[in-house]
Amino acid sequence: ESERLRLPPWLKTTIPTGSNFAHIRDQLRQLNLHTVCEEARCPNIGECWGGGKHGSATATIMLLGDTCTRGCRFCSVKTSRVPPPPDPSEPINTATAIATWGLDYVVLTSVDRDDLPDGGSHHFAETVQEIKRQNSNILVECLVPDFRGDLNAVKTIVNSGLDVYAHNIETVESLTPYVRDRRAQYSHIIEFWYKTWLRGCKPLSFRQSLLVLTAAKEVNPDLITKSSVMLGLGETDEEVHQTLKGKHIKFLHTLSYSTEADFGVHPASYPNGARSSFLTVKVGKFSTVYVHHVVKEIVAVCNHLQELFSLLRPVSDLKAAGVDCITLGQYMQPTKRHLKVVEYITPSKFQHWEEVGNSMGFLYTASGPLVRSSYKAGEFFITSILQ
Ligand code: SF4
Ligand code: SF4
Repeated sequence: ESERLRLPPWLKTTIPTGSNFAHIRDQLRQLNLHTVCEEARCPNIGECWGGGKHGSATATIMLLGDTCTRGCRFCSVKTSRVPPPPDPSEPINTATAIATWGLDYVVLTSVDRDDLPDGGSHHFAETVQEIKRQNSNILVECLVPDFRGDLNAVKTIVNSGLDVYAHNIETVESLTPYVRDRRAQYSHIIEFWYKTWLRGCKPLSFRQSLLVLTAAKEVNPDLITKSSVMLGLGETDEEVHQTLKGKHIKFLHTLSYSTEADFGVHPASYPNGARSSFLTVKVGKFSTVYVHHVVKEIVAVCNHLQELFSLLRPVSDLKAAGVDCITLGQYMQPTKRHLKVVEYITPSKFQHWEEVGNSMGFLYTASGPLVRSSYKAGEFFITSILQ
């Protein structure tokens, strides 16, 4: 206990209230909905719910219950292997409430539901669609889990009609196994890697998070993607730098390979004009391989290889994953049972990271002791991206 750091003055805040605050809170009670803003006693609630100087109010709604199948060491959410099933009326209740609040921007988030076959992705998608059906002007951000690397779940979210896809990397790579639940490592992608050719190589949830962010951007390159890092867990400056934008090894980056169509349109031929029974397949700019055209299965194999190649790219940072927006905030220990704060980062250091983020070319970087991943998200989105 004596080792605990003293709370510095810039983190001592009171929760402000206002008329919009009271209105939203009353509605939440009536509809049995929960917000992270209230549950986490977020100190930004007055600013977010009340709207910034551009009048864009933001709130973060929790879907899929209050019990998580994981137990990260920084998070105080309840944990169970088998949480209660999702409430099927939640998408419609959420949309109805949001439509009456006059919010401009809503963040939908959830606990991790590794117990559900789709990780809860369809529940998210249904909620987005219902919100947009009731008021197409509301901007919707989904702050989603890693879905254990299930790219179908990522696609379901990306194609739901949302405006911003957010997934939090939380911390630097070296601290990830201590900070995030280790269960995040046992994913679809990793099982697949194991069974094929990367036997023995075990990427951590850090890489998996980068992969799902990359995948979201690949499914829809116009989508805005976003991630968040907590500081004060013992990470070095160099590691924070690397997490935002690292040095790249140009290795398999340039590797792209032909699609199925290439098999049909590029029959190899002999110099005398006779058609070969072999077809050419280009593997990046490096080599051309010849495959026998009767081996139709090769198409399926190559499509599989394409997937593998895309996974193998050395995506080691948020910039390389195509992330557009980042937020950095101070980690706060929720209870004595959780990870201790190693350092309280000063406001000027946060200012430094904001400048670093801006110089790296992120669309916006929100960095400050009290910044949370959804902090004034609507205001940032409207001022930095729409204008
Ligand atoms: Fe908390 Fe998310 Fe970790 Fe669950 S997965 S324990 S909700 S941080
Ligand atoms: Fe809610 Fe996020 Fe704003 Fe906190 S920062 S009040 S959790 S929207």
